Amino acid sequence: MNFSPLNDPGFEEYRKREAAKAAKARKKRTLIILAVTAVIAAAGAVLLVLAAFDAVPRIIDNFSSTTPPAENTQTAAPSGSPETPTPQVLPTEATPSPTPSPTPDVSPTTEDPSVVKPTVKVRTTTVYLDPGHGFLNAAGDAMDKGAGNPDYIYYKMTEELYGAPMYEADMVLILTKKVKALLEDAGYTVVMSREDYVYERVPIALRAAKAKEADADLLVSIHANSAADTSAYGARVYYNDNPAWSLSIESKHFAEDVAKSIDAYGASRKKSKVYGDGESGKTLAMLRGTGDIPSVLIETCFLTNEEDAKAAISEEWQDSMAKAIVQAIVTRYKLKTTIL
Ligand SMILES: [Zn+2]
Repeated sequence: MNFSPLNDPGFEEYRKREAAKAAKARKKRTLIILAVTAVIAAAGAVLLVLAAFDAVPRIIDNFSSTTPPAENTQTAAPSGSPETPTPQVLPTEATPSPTPSPTPDVSPTTEDPSVVKPTVKVRTTTVYLDPGHGFLNAAGDAMDKGAGNPDYIYYKMTEELYGAPMYEADMVLILTKKVKALLEDAGYTVVMSREDYVYERVPIALRAAKAKEADADLLVSIHANSAADTSAYGARVYYNDNPAWSLSIESKHFAEDVAKSIDAYGASRKKSKVYGDGESGKTLAMLRGTGDIPSVLIETCFLTNEEDAKAAISEEWQDSMAKAIVQAIVTRYKLKTTIL
């Protein structure tokens, strides 16, 4: 489904809306950063007070340990009185507790300005995840739910199981959320093209362009396949094979890594295949509108195949497919943390 934003009358309107949304989000972000900084500063002050409390007994200990020699010389002079050393030892052990209050007030106020320092913004490797479909279609009159109709075995199975049929758009959303959670656990930043169904028209080309807006380092679009031939099964990974594109080869290697990882996790019942999108006659808009980041589109299974559909329903398969995708990302695009 190729879609040029230039042919879309809603495009300009959409862009304006997005720009307004982005400005609002930026404002919100600045407020959050200020609030977090204030909390960190307050926490720092509390820690310093506690540290000071802790330090006072030691200071007093040090102080009192310097006094005994003087006492010793004093006691050495009378020498006859054996009771004098004992009462002098006890006060030194007892003094730490009542004295701490005056000192802590001084140290936090002098340290306070330096505590404000951690206003550091950190950026980690950012992955743009696109659960395929789930947007209003190009005509704006129906939801694009992806593969699924009453003939599909996945549709039938889910309808029987849950009382309502599921579509490709549902299945890939569940799967993509699992990928997101695992990536975030590994420290990556994740931006998703949708977290639910989106009841507005967002052309695929624009969805891809949003990866660039999000300053993403790579893009992974997650789908499920269908075919008239219900015996077709297994996973396929696509990349943009336009030789004029500078990241075509890198994307191919990324696709190969994803395919290998899927096989290693046993998430495809047969060896996963890698395809150039042009070569396969698809020229996928999602892969061709990303600009300058490595991109792959994964057809994780066939919803028209009985065994694949069974797998797609099972939590076990979803988990191993999610892990396989994450493993490929994590090994090829190692987590980088940059202080901004
Ligand atoms: Zn799809």
